[in-house]
Parts: sequence; C-alpha cells; structure tokens
Amino acid sequence: MRHAVLIISLLLAISGILPAQSTMSVRFLQDQSRTASVNTFSRNGALYASVADIAKALGISVTPVTDAKKVELKGQTNRIRLSAENPFVVVTDEGENSNLLQLPLEVTMRGDVFFVPIEAFLPVLKALYPGDLALDRNTLNVGKLSPRSAYDVTGLSFDEKSNGFLIRIHCTKKLPDFENWMKPIGNDTWMYITLANARADVNAIKNTPPSGLVKQVLVFQSPTSVQLTLRLKGQIGGSEILPADGGSDILVAINKPADVSAADKKPKTPEKDLDKERKKWKLDVVVLDAGHGGEDPGAIGVTKTKEKDITLGITKKLGALISKNLDNVEVVYTRQTDKFIELYRRGQIANENGGKLFISIHCNSMPRKPNPNSGFEVYLLRPGKTENALRIAERENEVVKLEEGYEKRYQKLTEENFILLSMAQSAYVRYSEKFAGILGQEMGKQIDIPNDGVKQAGFYVLVGASMPNVLVETGYLSNRHDEKILKSPQGQQKIAQSIFNAIRRYKDEYEKSLREGVDMSEGTR
Ligand SMILES: [Zn+2]
Repeated sequence: MRHAVLIISLLLAISGILPAQSTMSVRFLQDQSRTASVNTFSRNGALYASVADIAKALGISVTPVTDAKKVELKGQTNRIRLSAENPFVVVTDEGENSNLLQLPLEVTMRGDVFFVPIEAFLPVLKALYPGDLALDRNTLNVGKLSPRSAYDVTGLSFDEKSNGFLIRIHCTKKLPDFENWMKPIGNDTWMYITLANARADVNAIKNTPPSGLVKQVLVFQSPTSVQLTLRLKGQIGGSEILPADGGSDILVAINKPADVSAADKKPKTPEKDLDKERKKWKLDVVVLDAGHGGEDPGAIGVTKTKEKDITLGITKKLGALISKNLDNVEVVYTRQTDKFIELYRRGQIANENGGKLFISIHCNSMPRKPNPNSGFEVYLLRPGKTENALRIAERENEVVKLEEGYEKRYQKLTEENFILLSMAQSAYVRYSEKFAGILGQEMGKQIDIPNDGVKQAGFYVLVGASMPNVLVETGYLSNRHDEKILKSPQGQQKIAQSIFNAIRRYKDEYEKSLREGVDMSEGTR
C-alpha cells in the first residue's frame, strides 16, 4: 500500500496537482554562522512556509490549540492565532485586545503542518518578532533589532483610501497620552494633535511632503509634549485618533466630507424644508435580510436544521406582520426563496430600495454540538473586540468565499479599514444603537432564549447598507433548547413578533424625534 501511495504522490507532483516541496533558508544578518531552513511549497505563484519551522528559527513558541485546525504563536506580549483553510488571523495583545486581520490567501494545512503565505504573513509576524524580516526570493533575511531612536515620534505618512484618509504618526514607543481637535478656518480645516511626554524628530516631520488632504505640516516641540498642526483641504466630516494595531504608531482617521449624511444633521431649515426633510427620513421602508440561502446553508443544528431555513421562516413571518400592521411601511426582502445572494448585493438591494432600517437575521452555532451555549445577540457593525464576536464574524463572513472574485470586492477588514468603514456609517450609528437596544429588550420580553446583549463585530453584510442596521443572532442551533424554539413555527412566530414590536417602538420614537427635531439618542436610552 505504501508504494501505491508513493507512486500516486509522485504522479501528482509531476502532473503539478500536488505542489512540489522545497525549502527556504533563513539568514541571520548579525550572526552569519547561524542558519536555519524552513519547509515551503509554492501554489499559484505564492510561497507558503511552515509555521513551525519559522517559529523555531525565530525562537517563537508555538502552542497547540485544542481545536486541531488552529494553532497559536506566542511572542513576549502578543499572540497570533491561525486557522486552517481560513484567511483570517487573530492578533491579541497583552491587554487582551484582539484584532482580526485578513490575509489575501488562506492559511493551509498539509498533514498536520500549518503553512502560511509567507509574503503576506511577514508584516503580521512583526507583532511577535521585533527584528527586521525581509523576504528575498527563497531566503528570509533576519536583521538586527532596529536601534532605539532618540526620538519617540519619527515621522508622518499619509494614505488616501476610497472612503477616507489616514494619517500615520510613526512612534518608536507606545505613547499613551494623545488627543486631537479640529477647527475650520476659511476654506480649510486645521487639525491639532498633541502627543504628551514625547520627543519628536522635528526636522524629519517638518519635511514630510504634503499629500492628499494635507496641505501643510507644522510641528512644535515643547519641553514635554509634541504639537502637530496639519492644514487640511476643505471641510472635514469627522476624525478619530487611536493607537494602530500591532506596534506603537498612532493613526488619525479622517472621513471625507461627502460621508456626512443628511441623517446626521439636525433640521435647521425653515418650516417648508423641514416638512420635506421629515418625509425623506420617515421610516417607510424596512429591509429584511434572511441570512444565507441556496448553496450556503449557514450553520447546521443538532438535529441537522439549516440556518438558511430558519432565517427565511422568521423573515417571512416578520414581513407579514409588518405588512399587516404597519400602514405606510413597505417591506423589502433581500431574498424570499432558498436562493444564494452575495453579501455585497444585500446592502445594494437595501440602498436601491431606499431602506430606512436594515435587519439581517441569523442563527448562532458552536463548532461542537450539542453545546450548552444558549442565547440571542444583537450586533452592530464595529471591529469585534471579543473572541466570541470575532468567531461569529468569521463564520458569517466565510460565505464570501463562494463568490467569485471576492478578494477584490471586499476590503480587508483590518482595523484601519474598519475605522473608515464605521466612520462612513457614523451618521447612522446612533440610530443603529437605538434600534439594537430596543430589539434586545423586546426579544427578551417574548422569547425563552437568554439575552446575551448588544455586541459589536465586523460583518460584511452590514458594511454596505447606508441606513441604520443591525444583525441579530436569534439563538444557537448547536444548543438543543434554542434549536427546538428556532425550528418550530410557533417559536419563529414569537421571534418575528418580538422583532416586529421593536420595529414599531423604534418607528414611534424615531418619528417623534424627527417631528420634534430632537436627537433620539438623548434621554430615552
Ligand atoms: Zn448566519
């Protein structure tokens, strides 16, 4: 039998189906006597390298995870978790803050060895290895620790994104104390950034060439702090300053003026225009999105229940309740049959139909079934900060792989992109939060599944909807109790009724706030 296997492997290797194995050498620039090698293979022009070999060469510890399809790399403070056949990696820092990063290619397993697309993985590896790492064809060059700079702030770089603008402040150590504020002067906006207890390389920063939105850079070093002043073109919608993931840089994300939607402006117009504004923002179209469908069954329950069937059942019952009981509210469905709809298309359908509220309906599941985890959760679009939120987002986003050309269509949900994406949504965020709060309460009143609260995670399906939006995980199909409720018509009716009650309550409060011109997020929380 062993000969047969060998011959088949050889044949596969020759025919190119099984990529040929090779090795990559590791060169330590500071200590040429030290060498190491890493098993690799190439597939479709990309070089994959053995995770265990890289870790061994760099002195990074590898911790197996109980789930055989995952592995964790541990540095001094940070950890990186990889999953087989999955492009998402989770980087966790010493404060237990997790970031979900997406590689352009999947992590893969051959036998029980994990392989990573090495070129894309090197920047991620910086979270664990402080030295310089550079790939030169089949050699990994490992450089010395970059010498500690005399300055804490060494430079600025600018990055124009399709949905915003990023300013990266390069820092050599973590600066915990910073703030920014903006002031429009004439046709420009001035942004002032203060970095406390820091020393800046004033010359380097002063000589940063202006680019994109930035017209002028000024820097001032006081005895204790650094003051950066940036002159930005035009009026700015908003900005957010925060530490960059992995490393000590600081990011300032700026959303473009066009992203400020009319929804965020309080009506200040004369009576006649005000009336028009009210009509425009009336809650007259609700978009219901039944999760999954067609070739994508979603999660599978303890008794083989398919998530796609449950979500459609609840959605149809909910749509019928709205049509019957809410005059002047149109229901738009992203699907009404067992059909596969791409995630980006769902947001498009919502936008094309002038939706004023987008509700995506799903069921949760744990990998091991049956499972004691039980409960419903309401999610808002924001970078997920907990392991659980990351796990759910990973599972719900997985389906994009069924779509052709998905790598190009979906921006990688790195923290940077996320800040900009969620800022583009900032006009709706407080409405989404408001609705999520009401929905949690109403579901809690009606259904016999515990309330796991309102949470945040990165769901592609919510990214594209330009309106208040939430995703609800109605319960766990991996839990016997939850599944029984979810698959019964009575259980689905109850869930639909509770979501309906939430929509009606939200509509009342939302329209009252429009009539009175008050901010609905004030007071009634
Ligand atoms: Zn789902």
